Amino acid sequence: MRQLLLLIFVFFASQWLFRKLRRANARSQAASQGTRGGTGSTRARSGNGASGAPQLPDPLVRCAECGVHTPRSETLVVAGQRFCCSDHAHRHAARPTGRDAR
Ligand SMILES: [Zn+2]
Repeated sequence: MRQLLLLIFVFFASQWLFRKLRRANARSQAASQGTRGGTGSTRARSGNGASGAPQLPDPLVRCAECGVHTPRSETLVVAGQRFCCSDHAHRHAARPTGRDAR
């Protein structure tokens, strides 16, 4: 019975280790890709935005209708405002003014 528990523990531990290794691999791959893509452009970019936080590849944007945060690539831009889906964009457009939203 004790051996079985140990086996289960080892199984979970190996899974955790595997996941950690995979994450480290992905991170190192991304880093190598970044250095590979032209030294001049990266140098210029780091000079511009060195003071701010590291830019996320896909920042979260707030939906103007429901307020849900959605990855920027998945949002819809209608009349200068971002929405999580086309349904909310239509609903927002159908409303006369956003004043009664509060
Ligand atoms: Zn929405």
